[in-house]
Amino acid sequence: MKDVEIPDGYAGLDFPWEAPPPEGEAIEVAEGVLWARLPLPMALDHVNIYFLREPGGWTMVDTGFDTRRTRAIVGALEAGPLGGLPIQRVLVTHHHPDHIGLAGLLQARGAELLATRTAWLMARMLVLDEQPLPTSETLDYCRRWGMDPEVLARRAAERPFNFADVVAPLPVGFTRIAEDETLELGGRCWRVARGDGHAPEHAVLFETEGDLVLGGDQLLPGISPNLGLYPTEANGDPVGDWLAACARLAPLARADQLVLPGHKTPYRGLPTRLASLRDNHVTALNRLEDHLATPRTGGECFAPLFKRRVDDGMYGLAFFEAIAHLRHLHLQGRAIRETRADGVWTFRAA
Ligand SMILES: [Zn+2]
Ligand SMILES: [Zn+2]
Repeated sequence: MKDVEIPDGYAGLDFPWEAPPPEGEAIEVAEGVLWARLPLPMALDHVNIYFLREPGGWTMVDTGFDTRRTRAIVGALEAGPLGGLPIQRVLVTHHHPDHIGLAGLLQARGAELLATRTAWLMARMLVLDEQPLPTSETLDYCRRWGMDPEVLARRAAERPFNFADVVAPLPVGFTRIAEDETLELGGRCWRVARGDGHAPEHAVLFETEGDLVLGGDQLLPGISPNLGLYPTEANGDPVGDWLAACARLAPLARADQLVLPGHKTPYRGLPTRLASLRDNHVTALNRLEDHLATPRTGGECFAPLFKRRVDDGMYGLAFFEAIAHLRHLHLQGRAIRETRADGVWTFRAA
């Protein structure tokens, strides 16, 4: 549910800012629009947050995790670049913890939360669903899809990553934003488009009279957003959802737009980027199909998908991404699924 940092090139994109804002400081990327960063304790070590100036305060876009350190940094931003004015609204692009962690805390201080319905329901469900150990359904699912038995045994005995560890409790109530709706934020008019695949009903906001795009993790530069197939929706097709979203967003993309992404740095060149966000998976599916000349389990499919070695810290994300691609090939009729004597699924090219 986090983002794997897999470099996939920056070709054809223009990055107006070489360096990100230092901790507790902000860069004005457009009139009344501030870009700041919060740290993440993972390989992908930061998340971008944005502030849009309102008449009596600010709208914040995405929030980072809820930790002592991020709370302190947001406090420093409020006292500094935000000029002591309140955060009146928080818009989260999608339900992932690095984007919604502090939202509940800001709501408790009086801010309004804007999100798509799916994003809010997912986040609220997950923050309440605290698990001391992985559920039996999760373990069965991982076993069937061919997780490395050693990794599975270790995970079975460990407290899994819990939303509640890094996401503040979400109070009841939010304001829904939905596809094709227009709304005003920071004195600008925006149209809501629907991303998908990385997170269901991921909001992408296109300024209607200007060139700004709030891209979240749907439109990251340089790294491929993680597409995972999880036991919560075992029959889903995140890769198919991703490809459909790329096609849906392409007509809204212009080369002059300034994309404000959830990670890395703002960029121009969205039509080029959308094409590579699609092609990366199309070519990965082709490589995976070749790899299935020999029957493989999900855990045996990392090599054709990830250019660098998958270490322990990345295993889970890589696994759920690999099986998402297997699932897509299977749905397309390009891979045949068989069940081994031990109950584990293997896949071979059709
Ligand atoms: Zn995300
Ligand atoms: Zn993210």
